[in-house]
Amino acid sequence: MNDAASRHMSPEEFRRWGHAVVDWIADYQRRVAELPVLSQVKPGEIRAALPASPPARGEPFDAILADVDRLILPGITHWQSPNFFAYFPANTSGPSILGELLSAGLGVQGMLWATSPACTELETHVLDWLAEMLDLPAKFKSSGTGGGVIQDTASSAVLAALIAARERATGGATNQLGCNGKLTAYTSSQAHSSVEKAAGIAGVGRSQLRLVDVDETFAMNPEALRSAIARDRAAGLTPFLVCATVGTTSSNAMDPLGPIGQICRESGLWLHVDAAMAGSAAVCPEFRWIHAGLELADSYAFNPHKWLFTNFDCDCFWVADRAALIRAFSILPEYLRNQATQSGAVIDYRDWHVQLGRRFRALKLWFVIRYYGVAGLRHHVREHVRLAQAFADWVRADPDFEVVVPPPLNLVCFRHRAGDDFNRAMLECLNASGRLYLTHTRLGDRYTLRLCVGQTHTAPGHVAAAWDLIRATARQAANGG
Ligand SMILES: *Cc1c(COP(=O)(O)O)cnc(C)c1O
Repeated sequence: MNDAASRHMSPEEFRRWGHAVVDWIADYQRRVAELPVLSQVKPGEIRAALPASPPARGEPFDAILADVDRLILPGITHWQSPNFFAYFPANTSGPSILGELLSAGLGVQGMLWATSPACTELETHVLDWLAEMLDLPAKFKSSGTGGGVIQDTASSAVLAALIAARERATGGATNQLGCNGKLTAYTSSQAHSSVEKAAGIAGVGRSQLRLVDVDETFAMNPEALRSAIARDRAAGLTPFLVCATVGTTSSNAMDPLGPIGQICRESGLWLHVDAAMAGSAAVCPEFRWIHAGLELADSYAFNPHKWLFTNFDCDCFWVADRAALIRAFSILPEYLRNQATQSGAVIDYRDWHVQLGRRFRALKLWFVIRYYGVAGLRHHVREHVRLAQAFADWVRADPDFEVVVPPPLNLVCFRHRAGDDFNRAMLECLNASGRLYLTHTRLGDRYTLRLCVGQTHTAPGHVAAAWDLIRATARQAANGG
């Protein structure tokens, strides 16, 4: 009787189906450019095609795999399409996918050094490599007082930073007694929503997060920050953290880390720097100006899962003083006690973030760095920036369009001169075509289109085709559809 429910997949069957899945992924990589980038399904359509109840008996693997094409693929927005220019990239690469597969194959849970020493030590090592690759201040390396850890996302990184800062500001009291409603944090009005979310989750309170004004480039105004801190101090409150952004989500604005860092130093505030996408640019020496002043930061995070060819999820988070982080997160129940931990000679990453259990994410990062090498990663990041800058030049050269803010790297904010409604309709039309995917933002209260170059296989032809389609769509709309 062929009842798959009664048995496990044998290593030989795994080999066979594993090859089939890898073939599937390779074929997908071949054809993804031809698929409609933005999924065109309606809400509920995917679920309606699925059986209401789970299968009582196991099914043949080929039937499951066939349903990926039939049932799942129509509901996929193809982030790996070279015509994906929306939001920020979530790019990936062959070596990353294979590293991820190996991590699943090992099935390691790396909560403690002792539960898989390689999981911890490779992570520490690869994060030291990355600190060198981005030329981060030496204090962030594990050889100094700091060190790096992989978090799932930049949102978790800012939460970890905020909690560590909260504990530092209150001498550990908030962990014991809870918040007293007096702590205040600061970020710019352009910062990512994860900062506000973290302030809420950490018990600081969303209303205790001050959104500091920005200048004409949408970067934080340090003088406005200084005044906001002074105002709160005068009101008897306890300012404790500033989150600065290197490359805001909306427009890639760069907060001035030097002046902000000085203010943090003078007032004893923790400075966290969120460089979720733009941080990757620092692999290229010519883009390291984005980190000017980073030596004044207490923590820093960027996402290799955005723009460094490493599949989601992978956020790298560094602190200058690991003791401050560990003090905030460490808790040691009897069942986790072990000799290695007791000896103090090892890192237990469970003390560096919210969750206990952790995946072996360093493996995919190690694969990516070794496969491309520093030179390879530089080449691809540079190319993305070059393509975005070329696109910006085409926009500037067209009298019907304008660049809304000078693009520092790989994100171009632009609009047609015909106004908000025109741009909104044009965007809908473009995305409905399935031939590319763009998203929008509001800058200076104007509806603005965003084109972000960062998908692994985006080549000059894809960006040129995007510009052709945008212009053709605009002409058509101008002629009444
Ligand atoms: C994308 C982004 C985030 C959120 O990233 P996650 O890793 O998905 O949490 C945070 N900050 C900035 C500046 C971002 O661009």
